[in-house]
Amino acid sequence: MARYTGPVCRLCRRENEKLFLKGKRCFTEKCAIERKAYPPGQHGTGRRRRRSSEYATQLREKQKVKRIYGVGEKQFRTLFTKAARVKGITGENLLISLEARLDNVVYRLGFAPSRKAARQLVRHRHVRVDGSAVDIPSFQVSPGQEISIAPAAQDMPVVREAIEDRKGKDQLSWLGVDYDACTGRVLEQPSRADIPLAVQEQLIVELYSK
Ligand code: SF4
Repeated sequence: MARYTGPVCRLCRRENEKLFLKGKRCFTEKCAIERKAYPPGQHGTGRRRRRSSEYATQLREKQKVKRIYGVGEKQFRTLFTKAARVKGITGENLLISLEARLDNVVYRLGFAPSRKAARQLVRHRHVRVDGSAVDIPSFQVSPGQEISIAPAAQDMPVVREAIEDRKGKDQLSWLGVDYDACTGRVLEQPSRADIPLAVQEQLIVELYSK
């Protein structure tokens, strides 16, 4: 399935919760969830949210995680299959591999205001891993690797604003960052507890195990 390119706030309204897809705007009163707390679409205002079946709940949780990370179904399914093969809890393995995506790490480090913006930076070869340009957003970053913004991109407004916004705020324990050098490092593989995401990943495992 092709990547969704429509209005992203609609996705939050569909899931009835903030997925933080738009960066700074998500923290303001302009957020669509704050202004329109009803499902999207022509009949959204009159539509009541029905009580969900078990299947619907599991499906919504999967859609939510896919939307948060901006991953399509095929890629998500592949990650799930790999996560199931690795030792440990499948749901946690899945989230850990999503966190290790290069676009996510660039976002988590604070070099971009959203995962979508981070993906753009990667695609346009503005991001380096251990000194080499990598333009694959799904590239899996490993502990010890250095992620940096290419010198020509360090003064881009999107990068500067993101850094100014993130500077001084708590950083995730598995990442180290030097904003002056526009460089970060993956210190260790995150555990589930290190991933600030309110999702029930076991529902996705149950869905795919049917
Ligand atoms: Fe979702 Fe952010 Fe849009 Fe709010 S502003 S609806 S959190 S993407």
